[in-house]
Amino acid sequence: MDSASGIDLDPNVLRHLQTKKVEERIEDLNNQIWMEDDAVGYRLVTVIDEGLSDLLVGFRDEQGFFEKKRIEKAKCEVPSLNNYSDDLCTLTQPNAATVLHALNIRYTSNVIHTYCGLFCVVINPWRTIPIYSDEVKQLYQHRNDLPPHVYSVAQNAFHGILKGGRNQSILITGESGAGKTENTKKIIDFILSSSGSNNTIGECVVTSGVLLEAMGNARTTHNSNSSRFGKFIRIEFDENSKLIGAKIECYLLEKSRVVSQSDGDRNFHIFYQMLSNYFDNPHKSFLKLSKKVEQYKYLRNDDASIDDAETAKLTDEAFSKIGFSEEEKIWIFQILSAVLWIGDIKFGERSGLDVSFVESVQEVDNIAELLEMKSSKLVDALTQPTIKVHDKLIRKNQNLAKTLSSASAMAKVLYERLFGWVVKRCNDAFSVDDTKSSCRNSRFIAVLDIAGFEIIEKNSFEQFCINYTNEKLQQFFNHFMFVKEQSDYLEEGIKWTQVNFANHLQPTIDLIEKPMGVLSFLEEECVVPNGSEKSLLEKLCSNLAGDSSFKKSKQSQKYSTVRHFAVQHYAGEVHYNIDGWLEKNRDNVETSVLDILSQSTHPLLKVLFPPVPANNLKARRGTITNSTVSFLYKNQLQCLLDTLNTSSAHFIRCVVPNYEKLPGKIDALLVLSQLKCNGVLEGIRICREGYPSRLPHSEFIERYSLLLKNKEKVSGASEKEKCAHICQDADVRKERYAVGKTKLFCKVGVISELERKRNEYI
Ligand code: ADP
Ligand code: MG
Repeated sequence: MDSASGIDLDPNVLRHLQTKKVEERIEDLNNQIWMEDDAVGYRLVTVIDEGLSDLLVGFRDEQGFFEKKRIEKAKCEVPSLNNYSDDLCTLTQPNAATVLHALNIRYTSNVIHTYCGLFCVVINPWRTIPIYSDEVKQLYQHRNDLPPHVYSVAQNAFHGILKGGRNQSILITGESGAGKTENTKKIIDFILSSSGSNNTIGECVVTSGVLLEAMGNARTTHNSNSSRFGKFIRIEFDENSKLIGAKIECYLLEKSRVVSQSDGDRNFHIFYQMLSNYFDNPHKSFLKLSKKVEQYKYLRNDDASIDDAETAKLTDEAFSKIGFSEEEKIWIFQILSAVLWIGDIKFGERSGLDVSFVESVQEVDNIAELLEMKSSKLVDALTQPTIKVHDKLIRKNQNLAKTLSSASAMAKVLYERLFGWVVKRCNDAFSVDDTKSSCRNSRFIAVLDIAGFEIIEKNSFEQFCINYTNEKLQQFFNHFMFVKEQSDYLEEGIKWTQVNFANHLQPTIDLIEKPMGVLSFLEEECVVPNGSEKSLLEKLCSNLAGDSSFKKSKQSQKYSTVRHFAVQHYAGEVHYNIDGWLEKNRDNVETSVLDILSQSTHPLLKVLFPPVPANNLKARRGTITNSTVSFLYKNQLQCLLDTLNTSSAHFIRCVVPNYEKLPGKIDALLVLSQLKCNGVLEGIRICREGYPSRLPHSEFIERYSLLLKNKEKVSGASEKEKCAHICQDADVRKERYAVGKTKLFCKVGVISELERKRNEYI
C-alpha cells in the first residue's frame, strides 16, 4: 500500500502511473524564462537584463560555456510553478514550453498519461509497461480518484452508460505510430470486461480486430503494424447496460498500397501471411501461390523480422471464430492470389501505336482460373475496353499506360471490396438484432481510431482528406469544450460570455465544403470532359482567391504556382500538391473490367460484384459526381459527426515521442509539432481565455489567507467572502478572478502572482 497516494498497487506498477511528488519552490525560478530553441524546443535561461521588447539572457551551452544572448520577448514563455501536475491546464503558466517540459518530466520517469483539460494525452512508451493488468483494470473500475489513464477515460464513458446517460464516444487521434490502435484495443478490452467478459459478442469484437489488422494493416517506416484505414467501433448496450452488440465502420482504406508501396513499407499483412509456412504446399499450389514473396511484384519489400506464420495462424483462427466456412476462406485466398498475379502480368505495346497486349498467358490463365472467368475475356477487358459510340458498344485499343492503370484498378477494386465484405461479415457476427424489444433503447460507447492532422513533405489528396476530417473533429472538440465551460460557469454562478472557438474553424470548413468550394470544384472537374488538374487549380485560384483560408502558393524551391495551393488549417498552413487528384478522386474502374468481374461464376465475386442493370449505364461508367471518393467521404464524415453530436465525447491524443522507437526519449521538436497539430495547444489557448485555475474555497483560504491585510475584518465572513477579500488584499485585478459557489476561478498567472507574494511573507 502506497501511503502517499492511497492506491493499493504494486510499487512497480504505481511508478508508471504517477511521478514522485516534488515540492517546487518559487525562488528556484527567480529570473528564469523559457527561450525558444531550434534544437531542443525550449531552454530555461536566466534573465540578466530587460529591454522594452527584448531580454538579455544567459545560459550554459552543451559544452558548459556560459553564453549571453538578446532575445525577443515574444519568443519567450513564463515557467510554471507546478511542473509535476497531472493536468496540464492547471499549470500556473500553461503554454507550449511548460506543457512540453511537464510531459518530458513525466515521460522520462515512465509516466505516459497526462490530462490536459478535456484531453488525455498518451505518449507511446515504445515498450510493454505493467499498467494494463486485471488488477489495474479493477482499480479503475471502482475508483475515480486515480492518476490519468486511458482506463479512467473508458470508465467515465462506461459510467455514463450505467447511469442511464447519453451515448458516449471516445475520439482517439494522433500521427502514425503514436499508439491510437493500441489504446483503442485497451479501451475496448476495458469496456468489454467491465460489462461482463464472458460474452460471445465481446469475443467477436476482439477477433474481428485480428482480421481487420491482417487485411487493413501494414508495415511502414514509422510503425510495423500501421492501420491503413480509419475505424469507428460502436459497442451497444441495452437499457439495463447489458452488452448486446457491436458495429464497425471503416473509412478510407489505403488501397493504393495493394499495387505499390514506398521504400521501407510493405503491402497489407494478409498477403505475407498467405504465403508463410503456416499453410502447406498442397494448399498453396491449389491457390496457385507458386512463387516466393519477393518474386511477386506487389510484394517486393518484405521484412524478415515479422513472423508472418504466427500471425497467419491467428488470422486463420479468427476467420473461423467469426464464422467464415473453410470454403469461404478458400474464396478469399483465391481472390488475394489473383490480385498478386495481376501485378505480374507482363504487358507489351506496339511501338508507335496505341495498342497494348499481354506478352505471356501464364499469369492471365492463373487469374482466370482463380476467378472463374475466361482468359481471353480478361485480356480483352484489360487491353481493349469497350466504349459507347452512338448507342453501340465497341472495343477500342489502348496504350500500355492505360492498360497498366486498368490492371491496377482491377487489383485495387478486388481488394477493397473483399475488405468491405470481411468487415460486413464481422458486423453480421455481432450485429444488434433490431427486432428484439430490449434493443429499442440501446445506447453505445463508440471508439474512433483515425489518423490525425498531418503536414508532410508532399501533401496530396490523402492528406487533404485527413486534414479536412481533423478540422471537423477539432471544431467538434472546440464546440464541446465551449458547452462544457459554459455549464461549469453556470453551475458555479459565474457570469461569463465566452467566445465560441468552434466558429473560428468555420471559414476553413466552408472553404472546403461550400457549393463553390474546393470539394465541389474537384468533383466537377472529375466529370467534365477533358478535366485536368491544371484547370482545377486555375478554378480554385480564380474563385477562392478572396477567401481568407485559401492561399495561392508562391513560386519557391518547394512549391510551384502551377502545382500547389494552400489552406489555412487550425494547426497551420498546408501546401497541397494537386498532382493525381482527379484520378484518385474519380477512382475509376473500366466498365469492361467491372463487367467481367460481375459475369464471373466465382461464388464470392458474385457477391462482391453484383450485376449492374444494363439501363444504368451512367453508373456503370462511374461518370457521375456522386460516385467520387470525396463525395462519398464527405457524406460518411457528416454521418460520423451527426453521431458524435448525439453523444458525450471523450478525447485521447496519442503522441509519438521519437521515431527510433526508443523508450524514455522525447524528441522535443517532434512532440511540439504534434501538440500543435493534435489540438492540445489549441485547447490550452482556449482554456487560457477562461479561468483555467480552479481551487476549492477551503484550499484557497488555507494557502493564501496570510495575504490578508486585516485578519479580524474577515472573521465571521463566509468562505466565499474570505476568498474575495484575499484577492482584493493581494491586489489581484477584478477581471482576473471570479468567486464561484464552491471554487475560486483564476486567469492564467494569478496563482504564480499569489505564490510570489506568499513567498515574500514566509
Ligand atoms: P497508430 O495506430 O497510432 O499508428 P499503434 O497503436 O499501431 O500506432 O502503435 C504503434 C506501436 O507502438 C505498437 O505496435 C506498439 O509497439 C507501440 N505502442 C503503442 N502504444 C503502446 C502502449 N500503450 N504500450 C506498449 N506499446 C505501445
Ligand atoms: Mg493504427
